Amino acid sequence: MNSHSSGGHRLLLKTGITALFLFLFQVGFASAAPLKIVTSVPDLADFARRVGGNSVEVLSLASGKENPHAVPLRPSYIAKIRSADLFIQMGLDMEHAYAPALLAEARNLRLQPGKEGFLDLGEDVQAIGVPVVFDRADGDVHSKGNPHYNLDPVQAQRMVRAIGVRLAALRPAEAVQFRANADLYVKEIEERLGSWKARLSGKSVRFISYHPDFAYFAQRFGVRQEGTIEPKPGIEPGPAHIEALVRNMQSRKVGLIVKESFYSDRVPLELARRTGAVVVSVPIFVGATPEARDYLSMMDALVSGFATQ
Ligand SMILES: [Zn+2]
Repeated sequence: MNSHSSGGHRLLLKTGITALFLFLFQVGFASAAPLKIVTSVPDLADFARRVGGNSVEVLSLASGKENPHAVPLRPSYIAKIRSADLFIQMGLDMEHAYAPALLAEARNLRLQPGKEGFLDLGEDVQAIGVPVVFDRADGDVHSKGNPHYNLDPVQAQRMVRAIGVRLAALRPAEAVQFRANADLYVKEIEERLGSWKARLSGKSVRFISYHPDFAYFAQRFGVRQEGTIEPKPGIEPGPAHIEALVRNMQSRKVGLIVKESFYSDRVPLELARRTGAVVVSVPIFVGATPEARDYLSMMDALVSGFATQ
């Protein structure tokens, strides 16, 4: 009877210790609150979610459905930036119209350029089309060269790795997991890159687009840009430019008009009617269209658009 009772005590004691450890574990776990990340565009949010997993909470300022150079300033974003641990942007002035103003208004000292909470992924990009002379008064929005490098999957892989390195610096205790998550996503992109290249190889695609969004994509996949509907980045075309485009498309045998999803189809359809070219509407950011759920599905839809010719 005596021994039975002491066994019962030991069991109770054991259960108590287990409960105590569980409690301490949960407290410890809860104290590591998710890192709060704000990104300018949704592709970066997709990368950050994949790398950070459950250890991050991510908000993208742009939805992907709007022109990336003209994302509306929402006052509600200021509070999000004020409490964020990390801000990630494409840079090369892509976010010129909204990010600097929001960051200044939020006055979050951790997120100032040069601090660990500010990651500008454009700093390591060899930009295409850097203007020799630049005057914003012209309306040109590519002041530091073309910032649309997100459509090159090799750049995407570099961005995923860079985000992994920065998250590891912000939270060293989870560095191994962040590295593993980044490696896995880089590998997935690598596998898809092979099939995307295969779909476009040997097709000699010649195209025009609305805005010079495909400079890096064209370089990676060997498709040929023969002009843009905008005479300069950010400037709507006049009749003289449209006439010149029609002549150029006819003489260069351009059969494809790639329209970024958020642009009007008025001019693309007019050009199609006059030249016989086909218009395809494509996403150029995650979230731009229903099928562009993440970076891989966005690129799938984009490559399909180019492969229609
Ligand atoms: Zn642009």
